[in-house]
Amino acid sequence: MRFCVKCGKDCDESIDGMCLDCWLDGRELTRLPHHVDLPMCTNCGEFQFGDRWQAMDLQDAVEKAAETRIEALPDVTVTDLAVSVEEQDPYVYKVSFQLRCDVMGRQTEDSCSTIVRIKNNVCRRCSRQLGSYYEAILQIRSSKDTPKKAVDEALAMTENSVLRQSVNNKQLFITKTELVPGGVDVYLSSITLGRSLCRELADAFCAETKESPKLVGQTSDGQDMYRITYLVRLPEYHPGDVIQFEGRYYKLVRMSGNGAKVLDLLTFKERAVSRADMPDIRLHTRFDDLMDATVVSTSGDELQVMHPTNYSMVELKMPADMEPGESVKIVDIDDVMYLVP
Ligand SMILES: [Zn+2]
Ligand SMILES: [Zn+2]
Repeated sequence: MRFCVKCGKDCDESIDGMCLDCWLDGRELTRLPHHVDLPMCTNCGEFQFGDRWQAMDLQDAVEKAAETRIEALPDVTVTDLAVSVEEQDPYVYKVSFQLRCDVMGRQTEDSCSTIVRIKNNVCRRCSRQLGSYYEAILQIRSSKDTPKKAVDEALAMTENSVLRQSVNNKQLFITKTELVPGGVDVYLSSITLGRSLCRELADAFCAETKESPKLVGQTSDGQDMYRITYLVRLPEYHPGDVIQFEGRYYKLVRMSGNGAKVLDLLTFKERAVSRADMPDIRLHTRFDDLMDATVVSTSGDELQVMHPTNYSMVELKMPADMEPGESVKIVDIDDVMYLVP
């Protein structure tokens, strides 16, 4: 049989030679440091916990910063807690906890408090962004006749892609975007990002690409450091345009990494053009320069439209059932009119 060294009572269980009552009497079961510093990025407002930066509500961040620093004595388990936060000034918060604790099966309560101080800081991503850090340049260039629209589309695709990828990796960002004659330069935080964007644009636009590394120095451990420029030259044609290929005329329907789908203007049948053959495609008429005409009448698989400039009636092959009054796109190829469906 044991007895308590303080009160002399017999007891089955003891801590430090004392019965549970004597041991608990006036004892601080949990402890917090006098103050806790909470780094906050002055640029993006995220808070630092350990080596991670996180976006969260100020109140939640203050609570979390304090809660993670609560230390309980051995044999003490915190089973529940309630928190109250009192703002002393926008950078100083008093955080108090009411805690339920379990000590060797006995339920008891405790309280502790600390001061959380918000410290201005700059997170790694912002410091790189603010410092104009970049590892790669994506140069999007139009060929002589590429419509500005294509460059805008390529830039929008780039920005969307970076936005998507940065959700899971905050180190991926666009440092800056510069309009230059013939296109746009996009400065990027990572070589991997540059490579993936280059591939994405090449596939979407069937663009030609070129990669040129440049030695910019050495890391502290003597490794060569490179910056890579990815040149993406957009082709002059664009889906919707009328093109010439192997002596025939087609509407360019769409492009992908494998090549293009084109629609024969004589037969209205689709065919594929492989990526390797795409440099042989020649632009004939841009989509924006196609003429508009109105269907006057139809008969069999033909329809009649009024010539948009000389007002004569023109017979055209009809790709599908069309009704008088419908508007169609037509193109003039060597004085012959074709319907562009
Ligand atoms: Zn005792
Ligand atoms: Zn930041």
